[in-house]
Parts: sequence; structure tokens; C-alpha cells
Amino acid sequence: MYKITRTSILITLILSTQLCHSKELIIYTARNEQLVKPIFEKYKKETGVEIKYITDKEAPLLEKIKAEGDQTSADIFMTVDAGNLWLASQEGVLKSVKSKLLNKNIPDHLKDPQNRWFGFSVRARTIFYNKEKVSPTELDTYEDLASIKWKNKLCLRTSNKVYNQSLVAMMIAEHGEQKTEEIVKGWVANLKAPVFPDDTKLIEAIDAGLCDVGIANTYYYGKYTQNKPENKVGLFWANQKNKGTHVNVSGAGITQYSKNAKEALAFLEWLSTEKAQNLFVDENFEFPANKKIKPSSKISSWGNFKSNLINVSIAGELQSKAVRLMDRAKYK
Ligand code: FE
Repeated sequence: MYKITRTSILITLILSTQLCHSKELIIYTARNEQLVKPIFEKYKKETGVEIKYITDKEAPLLEKIKAEGDQTSADIFMTVDAGNLWLASQEGVLKSVKSKLLNKNIPDHLKDPQNRWFGFSVRARTIFYNKEKVSPTELDTYEDLASIKWKNKLCLRTSNKVYNQSLVAMMIAEHGEQKTEEIVKGWVANLKAPVFPDDTKLIEAIDAGLCDVGIANTYYYGKYTQNKPENKVGLFWANQKNKGTHVNVSGAGITQYSKNAKEALAFLEWLSTEKAQNLFVDENFEFPANKKIKPSSKISSWGNFKSNLINVSIAGELQSKAVRLMDRAKYK
């Protein structure tokens, strides 16, 4: 009797120590706290696993993980844009993982070919226009915005932002550097106003009629139209007659030195499922990466579109070329 009790106490002790170790994950995230907190809370409710997190911009977070090395407390690095995720994998801070569920739920073009990171939400970067000045029948492709008919009508966000670097990188992959440079020079020649610091200011300028057309991420339009339902901004799905609209992801990967890699993988797998996808995307007007899950009714109202199926990691690979090209084209 005494023996059994002692053994069971011992087992209980071992189990609880293990549980203590496994019931916590640490995530370094460049996503807004308000977007991720409800997700982490839901995960805790479902699994008991507590998620602690640090939020900051992607560059300092990546530097922090690198500086901490094998002592890092981060289990997961979570950020926006495939360019940033690609950089993290290049810097060697992310671990390649094997997961049948992630492979099934996340389409190939939205993840690292070496499985070091996965996209969990999709944002499209497409064309927006002033409905009083432009008819959608006049619109076609990103490339077409370089044509003379858009002289003094186009507005763009600064080339410093990774979103535009990724878009131009994708164009390099499709057209080569020379043709892409001509297109970007054409954009610059058509600019109505100095480049904008962010997508929201650009959408506002389209609404105000300063700009006829511009390029922005869909979720900024979602937020804008929610705050201002009466507006003159239309969304046009770019490049539908050829490769499709440029899409990007927000995503995550497990750190190379995570002490809880198994639990971290369980969390990423959960993020790809129906239970978590809408929670992860709806608040920010994004599209679920998992194709089996329907987007929110608000973003469904923008209509179906064909997305460019080129692997989003290309955005990272060609990013430095894109930056140099935009510089040569005097795209500020
Ligand atoms: Fe953004």
C-alpha cells in the first residue's frame, strides 16, 4: 500500500513537472497584440497551453532571437509578409518541420518549400480606384498602370515598405529585371503625388479624388470601408486575365532552438484548422490560408479572384534585387 502510494506520488510529480514544462509556449510576434491575444486565449481554453508573447517590429524581434541563440526563450516567430519570414529562415533561426496536417491545410505556394514557415492568413495587394473618375473596364494589370493613360493619375506607397518590395520581386520573377524596371519607371512617371507613407493614406487620397488609381493591401480597404461605409473607392482584382492578383501572407515558424518544438508544432497545426483560421483572419479582414474555410462575409463581398500561385518565398529571394531596381527607377 505504502509502495503504491509512493509510486503514484512519484508519477504525479513527474507528470506535473512535464506538464509545467509543456503547458507554456513563448511567441515573438510582429503582429498587433489586439489581433493575436484572442487567438492565444482561445488556444489556452481549448488545450490548457498558456501562450506568452513579446510584440515588436519584425527586425528587432529577429535580432533578439539571433542574439539569444540557443538560449532563446522564443518557441515561435510570427510576422507579416513572406519577405520577412524568408529572411528569418535565411538567418537560420527557423526549424524545418514535418507535418501532414500543415501540408494538407496550407497550399504549397503559401509556405516555405523547406517547411520552415507557413502562411496562415492571406492578404492581396491589388488595384483601388476612384469610382467617379475611373470605370473598372479601364483597369487591367499592375503593368498597365505604367501606360501613358495613367499619367498624373497614379498614387503609390513608398518603396521602403516590404509590401511593395514583394510585389516588385514577384514581377521580376515573372518578367525579368529589365522589363520590370521599365514598368516601375512607368509608374514613377505617372505619379500624381509624392509616395505615401502607408496604404491607408493612399486609400484616403483615392477617396478624396487626389488620385485616380493606386495599389494597396485589401485589409486596409476593409478597415477603411468599415470606418467610412460611404466612400468612392472601388476594389479591382488585378491581373485576372493572366497570372492573377499578387498575394502575400502573415505566418509563423518554429525557432531553431525551441525547447518546446512539439508543442509549438501542435499550435501551428491548430492555427491551420477551422477552429482558428477565422479567428486569425477575420479581425484583420484577411483571407484564410486554408482553402476549405470561407472568408468573412465582408471580404467575400469583394468577389472571387484568381491569386498568383507563384511561391510567396520568391518575394524574399528577389527582395534585394527589387530594392535596387526601385532605387534605379527613382521610386522613392
Ligand atoms: Fe500592413
